[in-house]
Amino acid sequence: MSRTLEQSPNAAINKNILDKYMNLPIPDDKIQATYIWIDGTGEGLRCKDRTIDFIPQSPKELPIWNYDGSSTYQADGKNSDVYLHPVAIYKDPFRQGNNILVLCETYKFDGTPTGTNKRQSCAEVVNKCIKEEPWFGIEQEYTLLDMDDRPFGWPKMGFPGPQGPYYCGVGANKVFGREIVEAHYRACLYAGVKICGTNAEVMPAQWEYQVGPCLGISIGDDLWISRFLLHRISEEFGIVATLDPKPMTGDWNGAGAHTNVSTKTMRQPGGITAIQTAIDKLSKHHLRHIHAYDPHQGKDNARRLTGKHETSSIHDFSSGVAHRGASIRIPRGVSDEGCGYFEDRRPSSNCDPYSVVEAILRTICLDQ
Ligand code: ADP
Ligand code: MN
Ligand code: MN
Ligand code: MN
Ligand code: MN
Repeated sequence: MSRTLEQSPNAAINKNILDKYMNLPIPDDKIQATYIWIDGTGEGLRCKDRTIDFIPQSPKELPIWNYDGSSTYQADGKNSDVYLHPVAIYKDPFRQGNNILVLCETYKFDGTPTGTNKRQSCAEVVNKCIKEEPWFGIEQEYTLLDMDDRPFGWPKMGFPGPQGPYYCGVGANKVFGREIVEAHYRACLYAGVKICGTNAEVMPAQWEYQVGPCLGISIGDDLWISRFLLHRISEEFGIVATLDPKPMTGDWNGAGAHTNVSTKTMRQPGGITAIQTAIDKLSKHHLRHIHAYDPHQGKDNARRLTGKHETSSIHDFSSGVAHRGASIRIPRGVSDEGCGYFEDRRPSSNCDPYSVVEAILRTICLDQ
């Protein structure tokens, strides 16, 4: 038996027994709905389930619900109810059928958004820019860990050989945990998340998948649901997926959430001019963006944006064609064609995509 099977109670469970129950016929007029929300850390996800007696066509038809916010760092025990407002529906790859995953925004008792509900203000900003049809594609990097917080597949004593052979690698000595990557890709496609690719990363046990291009707010919705699926699937395997931006210190790559951006103008012939204008605006607001690019106002990214390991320094703004050590990269193909999109390489792997999108649109579309 592998180390993980010994260490993780979840991995040791015989999952075949569950099949008997998952195959039970359920009454036609009942579906199961998993309500999913972001907790008070701004990076943790929570969920709870309920039975619904109709098949909803839109999230607005679903009941508003609540939960104990004093157990999620979002409220006082004395006044603990926090409201869940359904905002997006996905198909449930675990239960299948008509069962659903429901992404929710969180609201306090007085009707105002909780401190970590960044979607509400993001949606307002997106609406002001919607004529420009902003598209986003996010490259989500993450690291698989054993139950003891050691990267999955790494020796317990010592380290794997230096980085080089692992990126897009294949083979038992190059990549660890591909089963999770495969399961997650399929689950995202099934659920309706606009996942567009995946690859093994530079550090062993580190992986990436890409979501997009998505119009406006849907990049945030799809990315959060893709993260839920990642944690939920990893749970079944008894492996932990972490979005920590620098899980290993030393000569090991960190993890980011490169954010690719375009507007209608940028995608049209000659759009490179609009891309350059946007980069110029971004250069004047570096600090505002660093604050929005991780859940701790730049503290998480300070460990990652060192100027080494394909990152730019957190203290400087820079840009360049095909430059992976810059804040902003213009892909070579975009430069050749004279239109397309740009890549903001600064967002941390654990960023809130709603905060990232809001900051970018405020700077490049609303000139704030
Ligand atoms: P990299 O070369 O940086 O590793 P990837 O192939 O991993 O790039 O990711 C590219 C990302 O760019 C994807 O998320 C994709 O959806 C996104 N993308 C592609 N075209 C556009 C566009 N026109 N606007 C915004 N995002 C885009
Ligand atoms: Mn209870
Ligand atoms: Mn990539
Ligand atoms: Mn990458
Ligand atoms: Mn990239």
